[in-house]
Amino acid sequence: MRRVAIVGGGPAGLMAAERLAAVDGLEVAVFDAMPTPGRKFLMAGKGGMNITHAEPLPAFVARYGARATTLAPLLDAFGPQAVRDWIHGLGIATFVGSSGRVFPAEMKAAPLLRAWLHRLRGQGVHFHVRHRWQGWAADGALRFATPQGKRQVAADAVILALGGGSWARLGSDGAWVPLLAERGILVEPLKPANCGFDVAWSAHFSERFAGEPVKPVIASIAGWCLQGEFIITAGGIEGGLVYALAAPLRDALATDGHAELHLDLAPGRTLASLAADLARPRGHDSLASHLRRRAGIAGVKAGLLRELLPPETLTASDRLAAAIKDLPLPVSAPRPIDEAISTAGGVAFAALDEHLMLRDLPGVFCAGEMLDWEAPTGGYLLTACLATGHSAGQGVRNWLDRRS
Ligand SMILES: Cc1cc2nc3c(=O)[nH]c(=O)nc-3n(C[C@H](O)[C@H](O)[C@H](O)COP(=O)(O)OP(=O)(O)OC[C@H]3O[C@@H](n4cnc5c(N)ncnc54)[C@H](O)[C@@H]3O)c2cc1C
Repeated sequence: MRRVAIVGGGPAGLMAAERLAAVDGLEVAVFDAMPTPGRKFLMAGKGGMNITHAEPLPAFVARYGARATTLAPLLDAFGPQAVRDWIHGLGIATFVGSSGRVFPAEMKAAPLLRAWLHRLRGQGVHFHVRHRWQGWAADGALRFATPQGKRQVAADAVILALGGGSWARLGSDGAWVPLLAERGILVEPLKPANCGFDVAWSAHFSERFAGEPVKPVIASIAGWCLQGEFIITAGGIEGGLVYALAAPLRDALATDGHAELHLDLAPGRTLASLAADLARPRGHDSLASHLRRRAGIAGVKAGLLRELLPPETLTASDRLAAAIKDLPLPVSAPRPIDEAISTAGGVAFAALDEHLMLRDLPGVFCAGEMLDWEAPTGGYLLTACLATGHSAGQGVRNWLDRRS
């Protein structure tokens, strides 16, 4: 009997286990530091689990940006349609939301995880929880810290699926980075992705508008331009539109030391019509009423104009119109990585072969968010975790077959 050790019981590790379960002559064991597997997967289900997306595959693959070409063959082998078929195979229905996002029935992760773990156990997969991986012993065995003390596990093949570096309380703390780096594996620094940003709001603005959604709005930076909504926080901004533009914002901050999101607070209005309407005499109207009546700008949008523009711009109709269509919002820093929905950086693809085996550590494969790719929210994160887990599982099968 040959033994495969999978370290990390998130979606990537569990999909790798599924690929290997019930293979004759293989014993599959999943190790996780937490008391139960799949904690972040469950958290992803709290706000409505979005597991994949129904758009055509080329558009889907393009969401992985610089890693689209690398991930394309993996998504060909196990892509969005395979994810849906797999969920249906667990007895859970899916539905497609109006945005094309695909959700499991009731938008919950718990029934899906329960059914999945039940099936894996039935297929003979062993689970060892409260096992924190701490690297390798001199003889190549995996070293774990457990409540019963230190334990070493020898395996014929290993899959590391340790997650990124956000929401450490759910298990993914990025503590694996030095363990791989000290074995000479190239690991790109972990960075927050799909994260909020700090903004130096005045106390007045923050008290008045924290928690308010800004919508509809178009935001742009560095050639990216998206319509949607975001939320004002006490010290910054967060929400779907900000997450979607987080990578270029984060990278601009890292390169230039400063970054601005450009907001169009009046999507659907042209600059010319806005300027003409705002140029009409104000009479006894306050600036607030004039903005509301002539430009449809009120509440938090009007607050943003007051917060970010000098007083003389507020009273010059042509400059005010221009600012409504292109309001620079300076951000000072991404929120800390632990708060991010996901993590960029990780094990470099150059360190891996086409089935995600570490070239310098034969028999050790990596999968999931710990790899160096990033993607927006919309189901792209979980799909790539499942696809890379699937590929690593297949890679282990091929590798063990070649050695038998
Ligand atoms: C609030 C929130 C909402 C989200 N919503 C969505 C969504 O709707 N759609 C979507 O596609 N994605 C979503 N995501 C992202 C998605 O959950 C992750 O991308 C995905 O869970 C990563 O899977 P993974 O298997 O690579 O790693 P993880 O799920 O992070 O699992 C890694 C596992 O490894 C274990 N581990 C780590 N280090 C060790 C160690 N040293 N020893 C032993 N075990 C260890 C951890 O305990 C953990 O169980 C969301 C994330 C968050 C935080």
